[in-house]
Amino acid sequence: MNSSFSLLRIRVLLVSFLTLICILLPSLPCAHATSATPVGETHVAKWKGNRKAVFLLMFDDSWPSHWQVAVPELVKRGMVATFYVVPRKGEYSKFEKEWKKVVEQGMTLGNHTMTHDGFQGAEDSEMEIGGCTHYLLDFVPGKNPRLISFALPGVTDYNFGEGNSLKSLLGQTSPRGPW
Ligand SMILES: [Zn+2]
Repeated sequence: MNSSFSLLRIRVLLVSFLTLICILLPSLPCAHATSATPVGETHVAKWKGNRKAVFLLMFDDSWPSHWQVAVPELVKRGMVATFYVVPRKGEYSKFEKEWKKVVEQGMTLGNHTMTHDGFQGAEDSEMEIGGCTHYLLDFVPGKNPRLISFALPGVTDYNFGEGNSLKSLLGQTSPRGPW
């Protein structure tokens, strides 16, 4: 008799507790937040700020017109772009100081190999791709290692080397890889 009475008391307490929760739940702050959006109108944003679309601006080959014309125009409009540079190309190396300013103005530099001349074999491809990544890690302030964007030059004369691939080369140039 005593044990069934205790069981009944527990049941009554449990029902009372659940009833209290149901009464309080709509007044909790989190419940208010979710009830503000009518059912059927909630959606997951595809892009930041619920924008309809995004686009990327990318420039390659480190031409002086990039920092002379494109960068000032981008800055005027509050826009950014990625510039795929070629550190051993004359048009880049002669104006390295200008490229430093490009970085300081919020633009991103990407890896477009050291020479843009293609590469033959493992050692050459590691110098071209890995060398450019290491150059950028030193040249652009930031975390090391970090992800560096890569664009393969539009040349047909290249060979990653026996057992090498673009993926393995990009993975070797950073402890974070392969990705
Ligand atoms: Zn190019």
